Amino acid sequence: MIVFEFKAKGKTTQYAAIDEAIRTFQFVRNKCIRYWMDNRGAGQKQLYRHNTALRAEYPFVKALNSHASQVAVERAYTAIARFYDNCKKQIPGKKGYPQFQKNNRSVEYKTSGWSLSPNRKQITFTDKKGIGKLKIKGTWDLNFYQIDQIKRVRLVSRADGYYVQFLVKADVKVDIKPTGKTIGLDVGIKEFYTDSNGHTEPNPKFYRTSEKRLKFHQRRVQRKVQGSTNRKKAINKLGRVHLKISRRREEHAKKVARCVIQSNDLVAYEDLRIKNLVKNHCLAKSINDAGWYQFRKWLEYFGTKFGRVTVAVNPRLTSAECSNCGAVVKKSLSVRTHACQCGFVLDRDWNAAINILNLALGTTGHVGTWVLDPNASGDSTSTHTGEILCEQVGSMNEESPP
Ligand SMILES: [Zn+2]
Repeated sequence: MIVFEFKAKGKTTQYAAIDEAIRTFQFVRNKCIRYWMDNRGAGQKQLYRHNTALRAEYPFVKALNSHASQVAVERAYTAIARFYDNCKKQIPGKKGYPQFQKNNRSVEYKTSGWSLSPNRKQITFTDKKGIGKLKIKGTWDLNFYQIDQIKRVRLVSRADGYYVQFLVKADVKVDIKPTGKTIGLDVGIKEFYTDSNGHTEPNPKFYRTSEKRLKFHQRRVQRKVQGSTNRKKAINKLGRVHLKISRRREEHAKKVARCVIQSNDLVAYEDLRIKNLVKNHCLAKSINDAGWYQFRKWLEYFGTKFGRVTVAVNPRLTSAECSNCGAVVKKSLSVRTHACQCGFVLDRDWNAAINILNLALGTTGHVGTWVLDPNASGDSTSTHTGEILCEQVGSMNEESPP
């Protein structure tokens, strides 16, 4: 899927209608979670049935396009399924018990409930939420695609306005020549990543300045009186700062990922979802975390696009093991150098990157590339190398700092 995003232009009343549709979408999702909590073991089918009941009971649910309502059920079910999945795999720490959503920001339609104008510069929402016709502004050209290639349409609310996203099913594969090279990446806090050749990619400078700006605006929000107009303004300003930072981060992640993918046939990195559960998190900065997730997402996206193999390996022992002899050399996070009894001494992250690559090469039987929707929020497909993961997560807390 490729995602095209446009800014939506309409009247204030239309924006209010979008907000209302988004609230309804959240309402259905949360009602399904509630239903599941009250009827443990309820499957997707029962949730769909519950949705039908909701539509009969609440006129405002009925006003939302029926397929959009179904997507809300699917979202609820994804949260439930993920929870079951985490329990089954015995992931350490929190298992992600499904939560009620409080500030959902989007509503998703399938192939009905909307229509595009012939020149594809306007979209009309035809359900009974009253959104009506919106102008869409952006640099993409939708004329390039058939209408039936558009599988989903999302309305997204952000601090600086409303957006329409089109999820288009298209083959984006591009053939490029093999490079004969493989690489392992160790993402860190100090550096953006260190690779198995010893190259370090520094964190972009704006990471540090962003952190300061965010803190400044967060404090401003805290200083204003609860519920006041000034507080609302400060919150909006904070939201805009967040947006700006995340867009820059995204650009950076995308640029670096494209470069790495184009110059290697196989790219290995750690399964960060697990890594973050394991490592001491107080040390890590939220901006780095978000950056890595985006980086991985783009690695997988470009991997698919250029036909490269991407492998997410289990992070267990990647920084402890000696890449020369395989002995386990435990070290706290503050120890920056790997020094083994076999005489092998190397920068800690470089050693880890080599291990990551070796792990990936040793398990290539499990490897595949995954089609990811690079702009999807949250529920991205997790990729890892087969069974090893499930067996080992139970004992992964070994590399904790002192
Ligand atoms: Zn060694």
